[in-house]
Amino acid sequence: MAEQLVCPACGSSDSAGLFHAKDHLVSNSEFLVRRCNDCGMGWTADPPPEEEAGNYYLSEEYISHSDRKQSIADYIYHLARNFMLSRKRRLVVSAVGKKTGSLVDIGSGTGYFAAFMKKRGWQVTGIEISDNAREYSVARFAIRAVTPAEIREMPPGSADCITFWHVLEHLYDPDMWMGEVNRILRDDGRCIIALPNFASADSTWFRNRWAALDVPRHLWHFTPAAFVRFAGRHELACEKISALPLDLFYISCLSYRNEGKSIPLIRGVATGLFIALRNLFRKEQASSLVYVVSKKKP
Ligand SMILES: [Zn+2]
Repeated sequence: MAEQLVCPACGSSDSAGLFHAKDHLVSNSEFLVRRCNDCGMGWTADPPPEEEAGNYYLSEEYISHSDRKQSIADYIYHLARNFMLSRKRRLVVSAVGKKTGSLVDIGSGTGYFAAFMKKRGWQVTGIEISDNAREYSVARFAIRAVTPAEIREMPPGSADCITFWHVLEHLYDPDMWMGEVNRILRDDGRCIIALPNFASADSTWFRNRWAALDVPRHLWHFTPAAFVRFAGRHELACEKISALPLDLFYISCLSYRNEGKSIPLIRGVATGLFIALRNLFRKEQASSLVYVVSKKKP
């Protein structure tokens, strides 16, 4: 696959190779990360072709698609997930200004968030590319979950809320997805997009060892400035940015574990605390950010 030189966020062709990062999960291969000199957007410049991408998700360790609780890091991840479900619901309710409505969760995985929202009165449709994860979510939670192609059959202006929880950075055609968001979102609806923050303090700290690079599964490494430009190109306005505070600790622990350091959990929590304290009031440096976007008024 030809190396991508043009910035996917702002369209600038002024970019440079930044570093190589390693895939610690599946292949142990290295991938080149480029950065835009205009907006700071990063991207994985030489990812596998889309039809081979599924091979990079085969690892048992890809926890968003499985349910294992074997290591301490997995256990913490699952604890954090339960805590985060409530927080995500509060974000949706406050963004949309409704306690129930229609919700489309893109990249619904094993269906935990979709099920959580359905239980609280939302009409939820999950969209998930993995057959295993999608079938699991339907069998376990009895939610409605469909394949990505089926988004094209959804009626225009039908969704109060569309969510991408750490999903957009995985998608090969983000422009197509933003086009679909614009089409199926109600005029007063909101789209909520959670992304790792390439301009975060932990990204700066770990550089090419930052676990949230997660190459080659993560194709796009957004900064707040790059995301605002990207959304704007798709007639979407960024209304609000908030932080997901727990991700800092998870990503720090995982970064040390990937490096093969001893006691990664203790190191990760210590580094996380250090970075969190240093950046207490600097939200734009948080490990993960949640963007609330709406359709631009004509
Ligand atoms: Zn750019």
